[in-house]
Amino acid sequence: MMNLPNLLRNVVLAPYTTYQIGGPADLFLEVNTINELVEAVKYAREQKLPYFLLGTGANILISDKGFRGLVILNRATKFEFLNPRSDLKSPQRSVLLRAESGAVVADIIEACKEKNLSGFEHFSGIPSSIGGALWQNLHFLNPERTDTFFIESILVEATILDEENNIKKVEKDFFEFGYDDSILHHQEIIVLDATFQLSEKPKEKIQKQIDANLLWRTQKQPQLWEYPSCGSVFKKIEGAGAGRLIEQAGLKGSQIGGAKISEKHANYIMNTGNAKAADVLNLIDLVKKEVKEKLGYQMETEISLIGEK
Ligand SMILES: Cc1cc2nc3c(=O)[nH]c(=O)nc-3n(C[C@H](O)[C@H](O)[C@H](O)COP(=O)(O)OP(=O)(O)OC[C@H]3O[C@@H](n4cnc5c(N)ncnc54)[C@H](O)[C@@H]3O)c2cc1C
Repeated sequence: MMNLPNLLRNVVLAPYTTYQIGGPADLFLEVNTINELVEAVKYAREQKLPYFLLGTGANILISDKGFRGLVILNRATKFEFLNPRSDLKSPQRSVLLRAESGAVVADIIEACKEKNLSGFEHFSGIPSSIGGALWQNLHFLNPERTDTFFIESILVEATILDEENNIKKVEKDFFEFGYDDSILHHQEIIVLDATFQLSEKPKEKIQKQIDANLLWRTQKQPQLWEYPSCGSVFKKIEGAGAGRLIEQAGLKGSQIGGAKISEKHANYIMNTGNAKAADVLNLIDLVKKEVKEKLGYQMETEISLIGEK
């Protein structure tokens, strides 16, 4: 049997999420390399332990009772720039970036900017690891509201651990990306690293894009330094807009316990300081009920609800 010397017991998960909400994990392991990540997942699978892989914890709500099993915190954060590859189609000379799955998108944006390389700056202001970004097909609608930029558009290939513990190289198509969706939702596949195609752009232009995105975000959405949250809670509803429906149902500003529907952006449920997961879940139920009754739309959550109910 494998031995995991740094395995901890009974670790409260709230500090590892952007919501700052969540009870304890029975078992908790921080991994700092891809090898450690593979060993940890194999350990959980061999022991038949339920496990959950945590990136930056920006798209999840962990229950108040916490997680019965092993939480693996992915801190394999290295990334490197690689030389251009002639087999890739691109109108411009392409530099590649290979990142471990725990690498933080904000760190990559800064490093790319310094090297005059474009691709990641569209995601400025969004908390995410590379693994979480591929899980959800990270996306951002530009401030002009004309184009949605998806991470799939710059992905070339990735290394994964499949359900049978094989390490494999896969190409972009393997992920079957959709809106807020990829194969990672449907199969127990772990992303180990990913390679992205970048294009050259002067850092001043990249900075301009970053500034525009951050300004738009600050004006339109509550920021994490104002209130902990997990971003948009409900899935997009084509033509109607989840946030707009919540607003039309008269729910902006509604509060249960420490959880509150944002006045700035109604698809955000904020933690005003001492929210429990139960408060957020009760607000989610309220939104679903009211929007269905008043406007006829069935709202679905975009975030993952993790842990013992
Ligand atoms: C303030 C705020 C604003 C946001 N704005 C946006 C936005 O504009 N656009 C957008 O798309 N999202 C947005 N989000 C949501 C969130 O940032 C993204 O979904 C992000 O990609 C989550 O990454 P993470 O590392 O935090 O994933 P986590 O929340 O840690 O995990 C999410 C899921 O991914 C899985 N996962 C993590 N790593 C791996 C891996 N290596 N292999 C397989 N599965 C893995 C986890 O197991 C989990 O199921 C926002 C969130 C916040 C808090």
